[in-house]
Amino acid sequence: MLRVEGLQAAYGASQALFDVSLHVGEGAFVTLMGRNGMGKTTTIRTIMGLLSARAGRVTLAGRDVTRAAPEIVARLGVGLVPEGRQIFPTLTVRENLVATAADRFGRKDPWTLARVVALFPRLGERAGQSASTLSGGEQQMLAIGRALMTNPRLLILDEATEGLAPVIRAEIWACLEKLKAEGQSILVVDKNVGVLRRLADRHFVIEKGRTVWSGDGAALDRDREKVNGWVGL
Ligand code: ATP
Repeated sequence: MLRVEGLQAAYGASQALFDVSLHVGEGAFVTLMGRNGMGKTTTIRTIMGLLSARAGRVTLAGRDVTRAAPEIVARLGVGLVPEGRQIFPTLTVRENLVATAADRFGRKDPWTLARVVALFPRLGERAGQSASTLSGGEQQMLAIGRALMTNPRLLILDEATEGLAPVIRAEIWACLEKLKAEGQSILVVDKNVGVLRRLADRHFVIEKGRTVWSGDGAALDRDREKVNGWVGL
């Protein structure tokens, strides 16, 4: 679904990515981990076309999107739940959800407002409310719901559980587990190694803009101390 090879990117003269490689198979749940400032968000921004790659290659379902504009990457089926949620605060919950609705790939059971509300009943209760009145956890659910409404082939979540209460975090993880069971391809940027060990098929760790480790759950168990060090636990 997604392949990133030797990605380099910079903010002006300041290079942030030196050699990032990762891949997400169809229906796979993959993590990207690393300490703050190591380049996780920059990797996501470069995949999305929000930042131009200096070198390397990004392919999506076999198509080269290395320097494609963000709207093209989105149309090709990448749904992003960005760091900080970035919902539309002056729109209602319902408006936030329908604003991005699309079904470009003719899914068998496409995401609709009704399905998103079934996944997150709280969004249904607050459908007519301005999104700015939601709690942090509800805003995160809205950001996930909004991305699902685009019926993405690949869902990317950047620090989706950051700053949330443990009970809300658990709800977000449970939602991702359901999505995985439905065959959704998922790339998650997060630091909760323990939960991710259980949920994800493969993990990638970046350190100072380079992929330094990758492996499945068994490899993670073997190298847990090393990975915890890279992730800053
Ligand atoms: P965090 O979890 O804190 O978001 P991260 O791993 O996502 O960390 P990035 O945000 O990708 O890290 O940052 C990677 C590097 O790029 C850091 O050195 C950061 O200071 C730098 N950087 C990030 N955004 C910008 C920007 N807009 N302009 C200049 N440098 C930036």
